[in-house]
Amino acid sequence: MEFVILAVVIAVVVLGAISGLVVSGRKKKQLPPSPPAAPEPSVTAPPAEPHVGEEAETPRDEERRTIEEVTLPTAEAPEAPAPAAEPEAPAAPEVAVEVPEPTAGRLVRLRARLSRSQNTLGKGLLTLLSREHLDEETWEEIEDILLTADVGVAPTQELVDRLRERVKVFGTRTPDDLRELLREELLTLIGPDLDRTVHTANGIGNGGDEIPGVVMVVGVNGTGKTTTTGKLARVLVADGKSVVLGAADTFRAAAADQLQTWGERVGARTVRGPEAGDPASVAYDAVKEGIAEAADVVLIDTAGRLHTKTGLMDELGKVKRVVEKHGPVGEVLLVLDATTGQNGLVQARVFAEVVDITGVVLTKLDGTAKGGIIIAVQRELGVPVKLVGLGEGADDLAPFEPKAFVDALID
Ligand code: GDP
Repeated sequence: MEFVILAVVIAVVVLGAISGLVVSGRKKKQLPPSPPAAPEPSVTAPPAEPHVGEEAETPRDEERRTIEEVTLPTAEAPEAPAPAAEPEAPAAPEVAVEVPEPTAGRLVRLRARLSRSQNTLGKGLLTLLSREHLDEETWEEIEDILLTADVGVAPTQELVDRLRERVKVFGTRTPDDLRELLREELLTLIGPDLDRTVHTANGIGNGGDEIPGVVMVVGVNGTGKTTTTGKLARVLVADGKSVVLGAADTFRAAAADQLQTWGERVGARTVRGPEAGDPASVAYDAVKEGIAEAADVVLIDTAGRLHTKTGLMDELGKVKRVVEKHGPVGEVLLVLDATTGQNGLVQARVFAEVVDITGVVLTKLDGTAKGGIIIAVQRELGVPVKLVGLGEGADDLAPFEPKAFVDALID
């Protein structure tokens, strides 16, 4: 009996041991999945840490930036992995040709962008002029507003003198009187009668035949030069002209691609050369292509590296001289960033020494309250502002209309 009890006890102990083993065995079986889980981070980690991972990412980021720069209105989330980008590549050559918006009245349409940034100028002036007593202090405040808006010292003085003289004549000053007075004086200062047409008419080539109108676009990098050339192509196409683009900014790697994409969108061919190649020869070839295609206009985007480097500026002069082997350059547009203030004026002066500027394009006017630069730059160069950039959208370049501009300031 004792033996039986002993046997039962032993059996229980043995069974318990076995079940313990099973449990611990299960535990052990459960463990293996953990170790594989541990290596996982180290599998994903390497791409983030070693150089290989970094190198792989940088170019992709660059590509992405280029694509974003170029496809302005449809900035889609660039989530797609690398393989997804490839199927898009073959589609690129057949960029759907768009119909740009008509150019007439663009400034009026884009007026809201102007008034948002320029209100301080016009409204500030009106408020001060409406004060009951126009004492010296008030006139000084008026001067300050004009100077802050980058109108420039001499034009500011002229405007204040004119306003003082005319305000004296009023018995009572109603808000409407003052608005009208300011409208007239600002308009006079801006020059309502200056010729602001972009000269794109055909010229007579050195061989005696008609050649396309040639427009050179110059300016410091970052001012919006390439974008403006692309937008201008759209303006011309909208006006029924055929355009050839010359990507003579051979120094900025993305510039030629950027320009070509702008061109493809409106069905304009882009002539480009090797990277870091001779800009003058690209410009020459572009006009040659324009002549061969019997295009209406050739637009040449030029290199805009630092204006302080004399050699590079000379190069710009060379581009113009080489193009003139075909025939006349009808227009040299200087692109200035309105947000750079006095710096922009310094740039303007330097460019004017190298090439004969015939018109100014003031970009980024949507992002500054310093619209007075229009007056200052016209004084500085003696040439009119012909176009203004009012945003990053493809059709946000407008012919400059003084009246619509002044209305936006004070209405
Ligand atoms: P580039 O180096 O002078 O050729 O300059 P880009 O043409 O590449 O333009 C530089 C940046 O300025 C780009 O991001 C443009 O979208 C932006 N830009 C150009 N014109 C305007 C404008 O009128 N308004 C605003 N807000 N941005 C502009």
